[in-house]
Amino acid sequence: MSLVDQSPEAFVSQLRSLGQHRAYLIHDPQSGQIHRSHPALGELADFLLAGNRDYQQHEGLFLAIGPRSGALFGAFVHKTHRGQGQGGLRHWPYATMTAFLRDGLRLAMGMTRKNALAGLWWGGGKGLIARAPGDGFRDPGHRAELYREYAAFVTSLRGCYITAEDAGTGPDDMAIVHQGTRFATCIPPQVGGSGNPSPATARGVVCAMEGALDHLGLGSLGGKKIAMQGTGNVGAAMIGELLQRGVAGIVASELSLERRAQLMQQFAGAPLALVPAEPGDNSVLATPCDILAPNALGGILNPDTIPAIQARVVCGAANNQLLDDERDARALAARGIVYVPDYLCNRMGIVHCANEQYGQVPHDPAIERHFGRDWDNSVYVITRRALELATAQGITTAAAANKLADELALQPHPIWGHRTRAIVDGLLADQWHLQG
Ligand code: NAD
Repeated sequence: MSLVDQSPEAFVSQLRSLGQHRAYLIHDPQSGQIHRSHPALGELADFLLAGNRDYQQHEGLFLAIGPRSGALFGAFVHKTHRGQGQGGLRHWPYATMTAFLRDGLRLAMGMTRKNALAGLWWGGGKGLIARAPGDGFRDPGHRAELYREYAAFVTSLRGCYITAEDAGTGPDDMAIVHQGTRFATCIPPQVGGSGNPSPATARGVVCAMEGALDHLGLGSLGGKKIAMQGTGNVGAAMIGELLQRGVAGIVASELSLERRAQLMQQFAGAPLALVPAEPGDNSVLATPCDILAPNALGGILNPDTIPAIQARVVCGAANNQLLDDERDARALAARGIVYVPDYLCNRMGIVHCANEQYGQVPHDPAIERHFGRDWDNSVYVITRRALELATAQGITTAAAANKLADELALQPHPIWGHRTRAIVDGLLADQWHLQG
């Protein structure tokens, strides 16, 4: 069986049988080819090079086996002209190496774009831990071991990848990671971090909604009807922001009965309808409304859901909302629905914690300016710019945001230039895969 069709666990066995505990695939900018740490990894390199649209000449992919846990770790570094490859650590089950690689590649590229469009001096990266079947991932002892090991892996990469929290990882996990590596951000307040980013994320998404409404000449949020999927950390904060702006009504679906009860109490008397949902239930997306805010899961904008959407604007916090970037963006545009690309409007989660190493000031202007309309790079301004570009060029809003982001992503860091590429080159020269 090909390496890419194997499960991550089988890949780990294969790597061990080669006498290796680490592996890399590093893009050579001169030849366009891929340096691989072992000749037997040719199938992985071929998989990347064979017209794989998730692979956009990522600077480096690093894989390692947890010394005691035996888990497969990944660090994906996309473009780092603006700075170190930064992005969260996802702890997730993957059936095959294809799924593992695709997720890491796509998410790292998304972080390059999100960071660039947010004006942060970071490149794009992503970390993965493959959750093996029956590995007791809820067990605190097992998690502690995994995150200690993952931290050592990140340290070994010398700062070309900066990790953070993501799906499947939480603040307690990041506290352990941070004990083992300085290359971590979005760390808990007890160790000098910036704390829960969700209120900032919610506020940023609402600024993007305002940008979209202005673009369409539809006025303010006052009097508008909103439908929302998911009322977790971000969704709940967004309800508060929207009510403050005088929306006419919010219909919000939520899986958790407890959560619904809590929010009903918190927002008693407000024009808010909380509707129950089951896993996989996307019926709320068909609610007639002005703005639809997907705040739960990715992949929910697809051929099954798009024909039923009855909103003028889709603008929500969930990552990777389009199941297929191009196809689904075109389908939304064809129905006259303005889609605000997720990574554009949900940037404030990362903005909130990205520069925590520079210390904390009250009402931090470096964060607050993202919520305004004066700064050239605020959420509102960039939303309008992307939507205007899409209209002017007859392209989808997703393509327009990618275009803006990809240009910005190639700007070199004002102090360090493309130093992270030199870190990657150093790992190659020093045979990183044979160390540790
Ligand atoms: P969360 O886990 O706190 O909330 C998600 C909520 O959605 C949960 O309450 C869950 O019960 C509900 N849900 C799941 N499936 C549902 C369904 N089919 N119908 C209705 N409700 C459903 O997560 P969060 O921190 O609020 O983040 C929400 C989304 O935004 C995620 O996709 C996340 O990756 C993304 N995001 C979050 C941040 C942040 O700052 N937290 C930043 C950027 C992006």
